[in-house]
Amino acid sequence: MYSRTQNDNGTYNTRCLYCFMTIATAVQTTEELELEEAEHLCPEKALALMLASRNSTRSLVHRS
Ligand SMILES: [Zn+2]
Repeated sequence: MYSRTQNDNGTYNTRCLYCFMTIATAVQTTEELELEEAEHLCPEKALALMLASRNSTRSLVHRS
């Protein structure tokens, strides 16, 4: 999930809502925004996924 803002000169900024890292600033087009967002490897999202899979593994072990 990303937070996009537009500057007075019409360019865009985008920020990741998981890690609050600014991914790109003063981007000219929304196409470029999408490319920048797609390239973002989010540390927070990776951590959340890892914790989620660890929790589900633990509950599976507990159940059996
Ligand atoms: Zn991120």
